[in-house]
Amino acid sequence: MTTRNLRTIKLRSGEQFRDEQETRIEPLELGGQRYLPVPETVPAELTITRASTGTVFELRFDVRLHGPCFRCLEDAVLDLPISAREYQANEPGPSDELRTPYLEDDRLDLTAWARDALALALPDKILCRSDCAGLCPVCGKDLNREPHDHGEPEPDSRWSALTELKDRL
Ligand SMILES: [Zn+2]
Ligand SMILES: [Zn+2]
Repeated sequence: MTTRNLRTIKLRSGEQFRDEQETRIEPLELGGQRYLPVPETVPAELTITRASTGTVFELRFDVRLHGPCFRCLEDAVLDLPISAREYQANEPGPSDELRTPYLEDDRLDLTAWARDALALALPDKILCRSDCAGLCPVCGKDLNREPHDHGEPEPDSRWSALTELKDRL
């Protein structure tokens, strides 16, 4: 887990602090599959801007995920640029909108924040390529490697026997 201690960062209203920090990215589960960040830590740019009523936190990083394609289950690679923003009021009061859940005791939980920001940025389907043909619904073979179709389904032989019988009557 990567956290950032903010106690040493003293900003006055209107001032900004920017730093790059190696941040650990957690693997994530999606549709029962596991997607791994490669590498597991990425350089993330943290920007802190002090306003008169509170502080704005911004986090930016690029992440690469490896995991199974939704359609064909082969390895898929997904590159995602992530940028997220949080706000913490000087006096947040009872409203959750004025505080960030990632800040506790002057420590900013970058790993938890990165995990949530990544989850929000994911596409509906992770594919090995946008036109992945998937698996054949009949025989289960990979249609990217062996494009084929099985033609019209065979007519049921019992029915054809009946039709023949009807024709003879
Ligand atoms: Zn695929
Ligand atoms: Zn097939």
